[in-house]
Amino acid sequence: MQSTIQEILQFRKERNWHVNQDARSLAISISLEANELLEPFQWCTGEEAVATHHQEIKEEIADVLIYLVALADHMDIDLQEAVTEKLKINLNKYPVPEKTKL
Ligand SMILES: [Mg+2]
Repeated sequence: MQSTIQEILQFRKERNWHVNQDARSLAISISLEANELLEPFQWCTGEEAVATHHQEIKEEIADVLIYLVALADHMDIDLQEAVTEKLKINLNKYPVPEKTKL
């Protein structure tokens, strides 16, 4: 994941995109890209969307991640640390059910 983050940040830096974008703009962009992710699912079942729009869905997933990385970087948030912390919170909130424990 760290190399993907670095690749995204390098791409943005080479184009100076990191300079003019603020947290608000990046947060809005995450939401817009997440909504673009919904478009292939409009007017069909999830299975149909996955079967017929796999590439579009893949690209929108990437767009969401790219903006997430940009926002985290802008706010000096270590994305890996944030995810690890959040998973710990979720673990306490949603413990593994007894019957599925290995
Ligand atoms: Mg997009």
